[in-house]
Amino acid sequence: MPMFVDTSPPGQCIFCRLVAGEIPSAKVYEDGHTIAFMDIGQVNPGHVLVASKRHAATLLDATPEEAAAVMHTAHRVARAIQAVFDPPGLMLLQANGAVAGQTVGHLHMHVVPRHDADGITFTWPRKEPPTAVLTSHAERLRAAL
Ligand code: AMP
Ligand code: ZN
Repeated sequence: MPMFVDTSPPGQCIFCRLVAGEIPSAKVYEDGHTIAFMDIGQVNPGHVLVASKRHAATLLDATPEEAAAVMHTAHRVARAIQAVFDPPGLMLLQANGAVAGQTVGHLHMHVVPRHDADGITFTWPRKEPPTAVLTSHAERLRAAL
């Protein structure tokens, strides 16, 4: 779990204040639903955050239009990062909830240039359950769509 999590209400969180111009940002782009700006942490040079303009705490709180708009802007920004920084790899990361690593409770997506041995680590603990378990999970999800 992250040490610090900004769970401020709508209008008061870091990104709402950034959207409102109350705190400075190195802005890259904005449109009706989204804003893109340089992540202050710059995990690698060219690291950009794309956030919804309206305060949606997570992806699950966003409308389908807002969710699509965040991805649309991330795609545009990814192409710009590729053109300018020319990284050998590029990663999109979108965390929801503190246990998933989200530290600012306002919907955002990281667009991160990736390099060999750049220090970003991620473990992926595969379980490989039997097919019957996969089928059961899929059935439950289909019913929930
Ligand atoms: P996450 O951990 O996915 O919630 O990402 C939050 C990100 O917001 C971190 O990578 C921070 O570096 C970044 N961040 C926090 N405050 C600011 C700010 N004022 N301007 C730009 N980026 C910020
Ligand atoms: Zn907010």
